[in-house]
Amino acid sequence: MESRTAFISGASRGIGRACALTLAQAGHRVVLAARSQANLAAVAEELRALGREAFTVELDLASPDSVKAAFAQAAKDFGRIDILVNNAAVTKDGLAMRMKKEDWDIVIQTNLTGAFLAIQQVLPGMMKERWGRIINISSVVGEAGNAGQANYVASKAGLIGLTKSIAQEMASRNITVNAVAPGFIATDMTAVLPDQVKEAMLGRIPLKRFGTPEDVAHAVKFLASEESNYITGHVLDVNGGMYM
Ligand code: NAP
Repeated sequence: MESRTAFISGASRGIGRACALTLAQAGHRVVLAARSQANLAAVAEELRALGREAFTVELDLASPDSVKAAFAQAAKDFGRIDILVNNAAVTKDGLAMRMKKEDWDIVIQTNLTGAFLAIQQVLPGMMKERWGRIINISSVVGEAGNAGQANYVASKAGLIGLTKSIAQEMASRNITVNAVAPGFIATDMTAVLPDQVKEAMLGRIPLKRFGTPEDVAHAVKFLASEESNYITGHVLDVNGGMYM
């Protein structure tokens, strides 16, 4: 199997960290990106302990300048990016009627615009190479909607539209673009939810358990592999059957 270079946003914890470990175990070099460098350094150490190359870059997806700088840094240290995992995201939940515009803006900027800008950074190298894998982490709520998360849901539904559009634009260059839509995954993002919300969620999951970050990472690994080369513009649900 050919060794590639993967760039993962939000690689410091949760699903992003699991993707980093899984892609490294699959033999890839990994660029780990997020705002907090201290957390990334710990994940980089884990990867190096596996005998893999890992490199960290500071990235704030809400800032277009930071996105440019992070990819310039990655290019300097590692060259072309072959696999982009747009994983980082934030939530600012609240009912739409009372949602502050800044809470709408920061979620769209980080989750959707940030992912778009990251894609723009990797496309020239992938087009030249005539090989690329872009994997956008959406969410079950981007497919089903969710009360209290209009901003987050719009960003995640937007990522699905973005996935399908770039997939069509880039198919002739052998660049595939897919989305993974996790259901309820046990991470910091969901740890903050009240117990009764978690119980209600569990009742809606046919497989009767919450997902793990590794469940999502395995889907990402497949979409990043050679074996997925005839799959593009797809949304792969990793949700225990909670939305079909
Ligand atoms: P998480 O535990 O909250 O981790 C988020 C990651 O994103 C962290 O590494 C964080 O690091 C980084 N990040 C946040 N804001 C950033 C910014 N402005 N720029 C760069 N990096 C930033 O999240 P998770 O639960 O693993 O979720 C990962 C992805 O899966 C997200 O796209 C999420 O929407 C999606 N998802 C999660 C679930 C779930 O149940 N957990 C379900 C469906 C979809 P810093 O704070 O250091 O920047």
